[in-house]
Amino acid sequence: MNTSKFSEFVLSAHDGFDEPTMREAFSHAVPIKTIVIYCLDPRVTEIPTAVARYLGDETYPGEVIINENGSRIGSTTTLATVAVAAGRAVDGVRSVSVLQHLFGIERIVVVHHSNCGATSYSADGMIDAFHHEHGTDISHAFDPASVCITDFEASLAYDTNLLRASPGVPKRAEILGLFYNTDTGEFTEVARIDGASVGRPTSEGLS
Ligand SMILES: [Zn+2]
Repeated sequence: MNTSKFSEFVLSAHDGFDEPTMREAFSHAVPIKTIVIYCLDPRVTEIPTAVARYLGDETYPGEVIINENGSRIGSTTTLATVAVAAGRAVDGVRSVSVLQHLFGIERIVVVHHSNCGATSYSADGMIDAFHHEHGTDISHAFDPASVCITDFEASLAYDTNLLRASPGVPKRAEILGLFYNTDTGEFTEVARIDGASVGRPTSEGLS
């Protein structure tokens, strides 16, 4: 039994909790189908809104649905956001898996942007700086290809391929890699990996 001070706020700690029923309820609470992974740079907070406009078939930020008791029970948004340094997909993979489990994901959009701080240094420069300034070796802590951006076509190809290769990313999901020009507000599609037409395994398919 969960006796933590905050256990009343843990849904799985409630009496009568049934995981499949809870998951089914969650899947209807928010119609999320798309995840946008973009840079946490405070100058580009408009990216999710701009992506929704660019795609044309998304609702973002949508509206929070509140019940008669004042509880926030859902939202009308179709788009979830993951803001990470440089918008690199490596930091978003776990979130994709969690949102797939709760809502089902049909599309993942990775956005890398012009004027990004991650274009101002190299992986070796960052590794050397940590060595000299902190006495630590981060050369094996991260994949150097995900630490900075030296080529937008390469970074977007790398990130869309990384997502496609991840076992926690549904194979049916379409994956887009977009370059965002912060001066013009324009997107350029640089990479696209279509979703595989895989359905649920049938008894026939398993035989
Ligand atoms: Zn950035």
